[in-house]
Formats: sequence, C-alpha cells, structure tokens
Amino acid sequence: MANYLRDFVSKASVLSARRPTINEFFLSAYTLSIYTGCEIGCPYCDSWIFGDRPLNETVHIPLDLPQRLDAELEAVNPGDLIAITALSDPYQAAEQTYRITRQTLQVLAKRKQPCLLLTKSASVMEDADLLQRMNQDGLAIIMTTLLTMDPHLAEKLEGKAPPPAMRLEMLTALKRLGVPVGVALLPIMPYVNDTQSALRTTLRACVAAGVDFVIWDYLHIPNERHRSRVNEILARVSTFPHSYYRDIYHGQATVSASYRHDRDVELQIYCDGLNLESRAPHRIYAGKLRATNEAALLLRHSAFRDRVHGREQVANIHRRLAEQIYAGDTQPANLRESSLAPAIRAILNRQ
Ligand code: SF4
Repeated sequence: MANYLRDFVSKASVLSARRPTINEFFLSAYTLSIYTGCEIGCPYCDSWIFGDRPLNETVHIPLDLPQRLDAELEAVNPGDLIAITALSDPYQAAEQTYRITRQTLQVLAKRKQPCLLLTKSASVMEDADLLQRMNQDGLAIIMTTLLTMDPHLAEKLEGKAPPPAMRLEMLTALKRLGVPVGVALLPIMPYVNDTQSALRTTLRACVAAGVDFVIWDYLHIPNERHRSRVNEILARVSTFPHSYYRDIYHGQATVSASYRHDRDVELQIYCDGLNLESRAPHRIYAGKLRATNEAALLLRHSAFRDRVHGREQVANIHRRLAEQIYAGDTQPANLRESSLAPAIRAILNRQ
C-alpha cells in the first residue's frame, strides 16, 4: 500500500493552462489531475518520469482541490471541457477514503461544466448516479484504458489494475445509464500488444461492450530511466532482441512515422469494418461544448481520418482551420476549401 499524504494544493493553479490546441482524444481545453502519485503504478505509465521517487510510493491527497477548482472555474468558459485524465487514476484506492474525485465532480456538476474522466477502476460506479445527472445536464464522458484482452498479458503489464473484462463491464453499465463511454488503447506497444489478432480481439471486445468510440496512441519512451523500465517489461513478456525497438524508435521518444502510419491505417480499417468510431462521434458532444471547440473537434477528427486515408493536403487544411477556430477566429479565410464548411458555419452561427 502507498503512503497517503494529506496535503493542500501547492501549485498556483489546479487546472492546467488552457491548451493551445484542442485535445482531439479527450475533447478537452483543460486538464486536471486529482491525486499526485498513482498506487496502481503501471510500469509503462508516463507519469513515472515526473519526480524522483517511485510513482506508486506516495499519494498526495489534495484536500482543498475541489474548493480551489470552484474558484478557478469562475474564469473558465462554461463550454470548455475539463479532462480528468492526467498523471494519476482518479478512482485509485485513496478515493475510497478521501472522495476528492467525488467532491471535484460535484463542483463540475454544480456549474454544468463538461468533463471527461479516464479510469481503470470500477469504483467509478459508486458515482454513477452523479455522472448520469452530469451528462443529462451537460456532458460527462467516461473512458477506460485497455492494452489487451489477454488476462495473462494484462497481469504482466499492469498487475495492480482491474482485469480488462471488468473495465469493459463497467463501461457497459455506465452506457446503460446513458453516459457516453470510450476506450483508450493506450499504449500500443510494438511486439507486445500490436499484432493483428490482438488489436482485432481488443476492438471486437469494445464493440461487444457497446462502447461509443476508441482512441489509440503508441508507447512513449521519454527518457533513459523510462527506457530501462520498458526494457524490464519487455524482458517479462517477450524474448525478442532490444534491437527491434531501436529499429522502431531510432533513439527517439516516440515510434517512427512509418510504424505509426501503418498501425493507424490497420486500426482504422478494423474500426471501419466493425462500425466502431475512432474518435468521439459528433453526436456525443454536439451542442454541449463551446461552439469554437465543437467546430475545432469536428475538423481535427476529420483531419485524422483524412491523414489515415492518404489525403494529407486536406488533413493539413482541416488541422489549420481547427487551430484558427479554436483560437477564436470564426471567419477563417480558407473555410470554403473544406467540405465541412456548411456544418462548421452552422455550429459557429450558434454563438
Ligand atoms: S492507472 Fe493510469 S495513471 Fe495510474 S499508473 Fe496506471 S496508467 Fe498511470
């Protein structure tokens, strides 16, 4: 068990700075992390790189975070989505005692502020009524992370997290309450969970669970300490030589452009075949976000599909338009170059 350190927020602000571009995975303009430190301690987690001590050693309990957030939201547009997705799981074991996540959701609910929350823990079901109400009054989306449906591999990769099947059951239960649900295939790890059959099995399980959408991204190896941790995982789950990873990462923090492109295409083809959305579908957030955010997301999501389907020029136009509109330019000069122009204008005219 981790040490729990009851604390007050020491940062100037509990919310991140407003993002310079909208987050197309989590629909967010701001990020919020509740606890600092994560007792689940998945070895592939990026959060290990923040701080000198082990991620799962101490969990800081930010007693005044809900009140601090309430004050900060005075200056936040009510259509900007807050993503509780960063640095720690909001429903890790500490939540059973301290309920900081529940209090935070109550603050967001009072203000009808849209939010998206990412968790692996079925404890989120204890707040199901609150989340259902939040989504009826505005927008509340719940996502979970899945690496594999193979329980033996999951045990080796993230032994302290609830089993994958349990996470999907939790999403099915939330979906029944009308709460939109998504799955983050995070991270896709070369030679570990990226085979065609593994990816197909995971996506089929998502469809069977009734999830509204999936997203995915690839294992990040930001520094040498993290590289050693990744090498330990690889030694546990496989026998291939480390040079395989060198060929894909070329010493960089992320996978090569060609690996990313090939997997993106493969995954998008599987999603299309399963009629599964590869980004949050518009129907989930239509009319529930600030108009400029909604338009920017529609463009970013379209740009992703354009790029995967080889329409690079159109993708660039859509990405540029998304940035301009999110930044407040509601009359971008090249909007007419986009086939989405009528839909975007209709959204922006709502303002
Ligand atoms: S549960 Fe999430 S935040 Fe916690 S260690 Fe695992 S991946 Fe990181």
